[in-house]
Amino acid sequence: MSYCGYCGVAESGKDHSACASRLAVIDPPRYCGECARRMVVQVTPTGWTARCSRHGEIASAR
Ligand SMILES: [Zn+2]
Ligand SMILES: [Zn+2]
Repeated sequence: MSYCGYCGVAESGKDHSACASRLAVIDPPRYCGECARRMVVQVTPTGWTARCSRHGEIASAR
């Protein structure tokens, strides 16, 4: 991944440890890790899905 899924800034651009902990707890990623596009996020009964128009859909681990 090149971009932070939480804030959309390049992974090397800043310290994303706070973002990582947010993503680990509850929040779906809002930005695609490949292209930093905003993703369409849907919360489902089991978790969430997030879809990039270029790179397709990812889902929560649970
Ligand atoms: Zn971040
Ligand atoms: Zn993408």
